[in-house]
Amino acid sequence: MPAHLDQNATTAAAPEAVTAMLPWLAAPAANPSAGHPAGKAAADALRAARGEVARLFGARLASEVVFTAGGTEAINAAVHAACARTPGRRRLITSTVEHSATKRAYDVRAAAGTHDVVKIGVDEEGRLDRAALFAAIDAHTACVSLMLANNETGVLFDLAGVAAACEAVGATFHIDAVQVPGKAPVDVYALGCHMASISGHKFHGPRGTGALFVRDGFPFAPTVVGGPQEGERRAGTENTPGIIGLGVAARIAREKASDAAACAALAARRDRLEAGLLAALPGARVSGAAAPRVPNTCNVTFRFRGDGDGAPDAAPDSALVLALLFEAGVEASAGSACSALKVAPSPVLLAMGRTPDEAARGLRFSLSHGTTDAEIDAALAAVQGAVGALQALA
Ligand code: PLP
Repeated sequence: MPAHLDQNATTAAAPEAVTAMLPWLAAPAANPSAGHPAGKAAADALRAARGEVARLFGARLASEVVFTAGGTEAINAAVHAACARTPGRRRLITSTVEHSATKRAYDVRAAAGTHDVVKIGVDEEGRLDRAALFAAIDAHTACVSLMLANNETGVLFDLAGVAAACEAVGATFHIDAVQVPGKAPVDVYALGCHMASISGHKFHGPRGTGALFVRDGFPFAPTVVGGPQEGERRAGTENTPGIIGLGVAARIAREKASDAAACAALAARRDRLEAGLLAALPGARVSGAAAPRVPNTCNVTFRFRGDGDGAPDAAPDSALVLALLFEAGVEASAGSACSALKVAPSPVLLAMGRTPDEAARGLRFSLSHGTTDAEIDAALAAVQGAVGALQALA
């Protein structure tokens, strides 16, 4: 088995989630909208899962949960609902380091000419420019959509006060919390957001499941229309097995995130990996090391001779390092688009002020609570091997 240190990309479904899902995959009559006993049993199971997901969000009401087919759908639905709530308002605010789901949901509106996008920058540690954010939120603002934890660096944004600023001008506040469950607690009421998105496959639930928290009373205009499912907020027969698996994963993630010893052990493994990477990689620098981060993510850049002139050069980028790691049975990622042994500079690292050369030399290692010491050892040995081979090349 390869050492899977790419847990921010996706996680394996928890055995408990798979066990809970299996009977529902084969159940012939488990449409929760049906009136017969099998349908009612499915509706009961869905209700229990909704309660677990509400608790993961820190929400009191199960009715504040809308099931979706993942994080991307939840984010798109939130942006749509925010824009529908305040027609005529043109301003959409986000940050320069968001996931492409948010970026593209905004971009299509800018391209259609209905909205203007304001992107708030970050400093060299990936911390949000809060002064610029508060200055940008005004009476023309339809939506402020910000991530809680960054998928490439793990940096946690300080979102205190954002909800109040939005409330003061009648803007909608959405949080992309996709990278948080299991790593830190989520508390939508403390954050004060109108909506928040999560994705099952990022915390050991099944792929293709997710949820949107929609605050009670929020005038939510759906994107997916049809039947009355999900309180008319997301039509279509529910993915009963997937939602049941999501519910189990939500319970485990909530328990893990509030288990201080488990989170400290995860951070300790990440820190040991990080120390080893800093020692092994030439010119290594951890992105976001000085900022608050979730305990599972490490993004390290490296430099070979010839770097630093701002232009792409012939020295190896992270695609080559990754290829050598894959060969050694270690799965990590560049954190950005990567194809045919070439990595595009990461927009996240560029936004943090790195040169294009450096931004093409990010290596992201992301752990789970199940990551073992042996996997960390394997990763460090593989990195040392790769560096040796590449130094000979350079
Ligand atoms: N937001 C963040 C921060 C993510 O990391 C991801 C997935 O990589 C998404 C949104 C999209 O989630 P999904 O893959 O469930 O569509």
